[in-house]
Amino acid sequence: MDVEALKKTFGDFPALDDVSLAVEPGELLALLGPSGSGKTTLLRAIAGLSAPEEGRIRFHGEDATNLSLRERRVGFVFQQYALFRHMTVFDNIAFGLRVRPRAERPRAREIARRVHLLLGLVQLEGLGDRFPSQLSGGQRQRVALARALAIEPTVLLLDEPFGALDAKVRKELRRWLRQIHHETGLTTIFVTHDQEEALELADRVVIMRSGKIEQIGTPAEIYDEPATPFVCEFLGNVTKFETVLKDGEGKVLGELLPVADGARHRDGPAVAYVRSHEFEISSADQTAGAAAIVRAIRPFGASVAVDLDVAGHAELIEAEIPRELFEVGEIREGQNVRVRATAARIFKAE
Ligand code: ATP
Repeated sequence: MDVEALKKTFGDFPALDDVSLAVEPGELLALLGPSGSGKTTLLRAIAGLSAPEEGRIRFHGEDATNLSLRERRVGFVFQQYALFRHMTVFDNIAFGLRVRPRAERPRAREIARRVHLLLGLVQLEGLGDRFPSQLSGGQRQRVALARALAIEPTVLLLDEPFGALDAKVRKELRRWLRQIHHETGLTTIFVTHDQEEALELADRVVIMRSGKIEQIGTPAEIYDEPATPFVCEFLGNVTKFETVLKDGEGKVLGELLPVADGARHRDGPAVAYVRSHEFEISSADQTAGAAAIVRAIRPFGASVAVDLDVAGHAELIEAEIPRELFEVGEIREGQNVRVRATAARIFKAE
């Protein structure tokens, strides 16, 4: 599926500004970006729910730009298209097949067979007779997905499919979506503003910003080689330092660190991003890095979060230290320590 140079404006606001994207067959693609960056607008344009002013959309190489939603045969789960409340789970799932023109409509028995298969796939066997109000939020989302899959779509589009659910159910459904994708092999595009969800689930992630694509890559590429400061900040868990680039290196916390593709960068003001697990803390009598004062310690989970106050740095630095390196009582609030960065992503200042 290809999107070529899409443009869509609301008034004079460019919601999609020359967006091009090639989606591989069978790929699970995440559209990730802050609120208002154009994710939903792009998904709606692919679905055929709104027409772009410029650009083309192709399915299997064929121009679909002027085809209707039904002609495109996309399956979608959008929040504003909730389940039909007056219909049972079974009827909700069967809906897309029953409204087909007579010549294309499967027989009732075939529809029932497919609905039962889908109920099995979304692990809701036996619940076909319930109404949506008799289901949990997670179950309702699974029915919505079964309804989208029922029409045997060419692509599956999901807009914040787990948005309204609590953290635990979200995690379960995520794992399960990955599995369904594996089983069906359907080209799937989902919108999220949750970095972890995108990086954990998707084959590739598209990062959007102000109606444009900022970066496309595998989760590893996006995480290890963020293309811009925006991507770094959006992925979160970073501390930003101002620095100066010279001969492909910049000083962070008193030590020189290399720029990944140093040769391409000219000397001058730059910004460096250090992830919380890229800090090392040592005792105050060491010489490494910079002097800091421990302001808070949060000893939860696999690592211990330590907030550090470094002279000359306006914000507290959050460092995450593996639990096994942290002996109880070794670091206390108010203690003087040294902190250094083991790595940084450095960009020329914008
Ligand atoms: P969110 O994560 O909040 O859903 P998004 O990235 O999906 O955001 P879009 O819904 O695509 O963002 O919206 C992109 C921009 O276009 C926003 O600034 C939004 O206000 C604007 N917009 C979207 N739909 C309309 C509309 N029908 N009329 C006017 N402006 C719109």
